[in-house]
Amino acid sequence: MTQVFPLMEKNRTFLVTGGAGFLGFHLSQRLLEMGHYVIGMDNLATGSLANIAQLQTHVRYRFLQQDIVLPFDVSSLDGIFHLACPASPIHYQADPIGTTKTSVIGTLHVLELAAKLNIPILFTSTSEVYGDPDQSPQVETYHGNVNPIGPRSCYDEGKRCAESLCFDFQRQLGVSVKVARLFNSYGPNMAVNDGRVVSSFINQALNDQPITVFGEGKQTRSFCFVSDTIDGLLKLAQSECSAPINLGNPSEITVLALAHKVIALTNSHSEIIYRDLPIDDPKRRCPDISLALDKLGWSPQVTLDKGLELTCRFYSTLLSSKKEKVPHL
Ligand code: UDP
Repeated sequence: MTQVFPLMEKNRTFLVTGGAGFLGFHLSQRLLEMGHYVIGMDNLATGSLANIAQLQTHVRYRFLQQDIVLPFDVSSLDGIFHLACPASPIHYQADPIGTTKTSVIGTLHVLELAAKLNIPILFTSTSEVYGDPDQSPQVETYHGNVNPIGPRSCYDEGKRCAESLCFDFQRQLGVSVKVARLFNSYGPNMAVNDGRVVSSFINQALNDQPITVFGEGKQTRSFCFVSDTIDGLLKLAQSECSAPINLGNPSEITVLALAHKVIALTNSHSEIIYRDLPIDDPKRRCPDISLALDKLGWSPQVTLDKGLELTCRFYSTLLSSKKEKVPHL
């Protein structure tokens, strides 16, 4: 029988791997608000101490600094949210062997723990499993177009192998797995130096620095505000859905149009400059979310304009608090 996460009961304990990262932070915060205990696990390679500091103000939160590539053990859990892996291209390509190890060996360790404790696990996979797609929007049954030896493959193939492990643990050992394929989440608390496009453009715009558009900016992405992503993950955790499911906002925009939107929203004096398009950068990315709508009753609620406004506000507050800390000479 498929297990679901007991999120409607009180005082349950969940492990969040990648708990100090952007999504890990938001998910942990929501689980704490729902009355649960959260154990955050992170090796702090890209996770943020500031995120942990905020979560640690809560009595039901505990942090474990641990690399999931190395063996570990945790007892008395009711479910595992497995998010750990660098997600920004500059970060996952900085140590590609480490990235593959995190996805493959790390996921193996987390699945072994779920099997041992007989608890459900939710794994955050990615739209990158579709590679540079030759069909759009991407539906879950599409097998993708991934270059297996390119600079992105550590992430793409790592996540594909992790998905494969999830479903083998489900078939062979009866572990209840839920797999979300996330499409470009963004929002407050993403690190300023994360390198992904929304945080980069907003921080460049707020500092009146040039906005770096890669290629001609004709490639598209579909950006999903973080609160929508977390709603989707929580709905998936409570569902019996055992096939991979897309979670993303189907409203698609070119990178150049995003740059113009950010400049307008921040009243910035930034100019746009063009840089080489990274190798294998997907030309289009747009989720088909019929399955999420049908199985979870989920669809994104926050428009790109609203989400960008909230994100700009977050970085702008962060920037002013940093300026205030600089001593006046
Ligand atoms: N991008 C850009 N300028 C930047 C960062 C990213 O033009 O400073 C582009 C990148 O080439 C890609 C899109 O924005 O086409 C989204 O990049 P991101 O790194 O956010 O995530 P990806 O979807 O590629 O994993």
